Amino acid sequence: MSFDSLGLSDALLKAISKKGYTIPSPIQEKAIPLILQRRDILASAQTGTGKTAGFTLPMLQILAETPIDKRRPIRALILTPTRELAAQVHANVEEYGEFVNLRSMVIFGGVNQNPQVTKLKRGIDILIATPGRLLDLESQRALSLSQVEFLILDEADRMLDMGFARDIKRVMNLLPQKRQNLLFSATFSKEIKKLASGILNNPAMVEATPENTTAELVEHMSYRVNKDQKPALLIKLISEGDWDQVLVFTRTKHGANRLSEKLDKSGITSAAIHGNKSQGARTKALAGFKEGSVRVLVATDIAARGLDIPLLPHVVNYELPNVPEDYIHRIGRTGRAGASGEAVSLVSIDEVDYVRGIERILGEKIPSEVMEGFEPTEKIGDIPPEPRRGRGGQGHNRPKPSGSRSSGGGSQGKRPSGSGSGGNPRSSGSSGSGSGGKRRS
Ligand code: AMP
Repeated sequence: MSFDSLGLSDALLKAISKKGYTIPSPIQEKAIPLILQRRDILASAQTGTGKTAGFTLPMLQILAETPIDKRRPIRALILTPTRELAAQVHANVEEYGEFVNLRSMVIFGGVNQNPQVTKLKRGIDILIATPGRLLDLESQRALSLSQVEFLILDEADRMLDMGFARDIKRVMNLLPQKRQNLLFSATFSKEIKKLASGILNNPAMVEATPENTTAELVEHMSYRVNKDQKPALLIKLISEGDWDQVLVFTRTKHGANRLSEKLDKSGITSAAIHGNKSQGARTKALAGFKEGSVRVLVATDIAARGLDIPLLPHVVNYELPNVPEDYIHRIGRTGRAGASGEAVSLVSIDEVDYVRGIERILGEKIPSEVMEGFEPTEKIGDIPPEPRRGRGGQGHNRPKPSGSRSSGGGSQGKRPSGSGSGGNPRSSGSSGSGSGGKRRS
């Protein structure tokens, strides 16, 4: 299957080819023709599946087919849960739309609204927005949604998790009845189904859970460790494993800050990315991580949503998420171009139950090991329960096969010394039980 056979215009094919894409991803192959037939879509797709092009390309084509109204009312609205995702979707819309005559812009909170208001006045065809700022500007009459033809909810599950249900409802009330609706979500909870049934009209279901990418290419493994030894174990894994681009998930913003400080003190460059950071700080951290000056990005789940980090080799769940689906989202951070990766979880005694929940939805066991020198001694009750605010974070990813990215063929030998056969914790961990000296359960 090629892009030519999907019914896309020459202008869009040109942009696709400029991006270097040759073959549509499964979600693109399924969703693009349906959207071009003007169907509503309910799609199960995570970041990393190519979903953004999956909805953007046909949307651009449909919008470009109608002559432009001089007043340029907003005709397409793309709602995202986070600023980062909004900015990324906007960047994609601009790239895919380079050769069509459509204007797009992004609005989100945390930055001065005045430049946004000025730009909106000039007329915008496609608006990408987070719900809060959108409603703010609408209530100030800085924008109108009364002529929206396309509504796209991206990462709808995360929007609900972040408490945007009421905002979404308010936005719906501002839209015309007749419109095309596309809803993308990594998971389908009862709440998502309810949301979908209130928004979508006879939707086509499109499934692109990357079974053949994410789940199968990720090698999951875990270390049982005392909570207070996690920083030292992480530092050992990173330095001795010679990992040079690591995404680490923590459960809280403060936890992310504290860990980032510890990593910096040990000589491992890092940056924390979470909701309390300014937009500028987040953008800078992500840019540093992508170009290599920041070796470790420490993130909370919410901040990490939507980050486009291609070919990420290592994801560490420094803390496990208390919502098992977050584990799946974390996996979505890597393996994008069919590359595999490694998801390493550091599990303290209070998190063992979370692992069970994750294994249930993964449908497989996560091999567990113990690193020499880090044998866990904690018992339930040693650790005070954490206040349940924010969502958890455990990251995982699929670290790449050793040598695939970080340090050529030499990385294996640099793996932590206590890591079992061949020094590669991943390989020994994935084979089941009992292979390495440090293997445990
Ligand atoms: P997304 O799931 O939309 O965040 O896309 C994940 C990554 O895949 C992005 O870096 C896209 O640029 C890239 N991508 C999207 N579609 C394709 C394709 N057909 N071929 C290769 N890469 C793609």
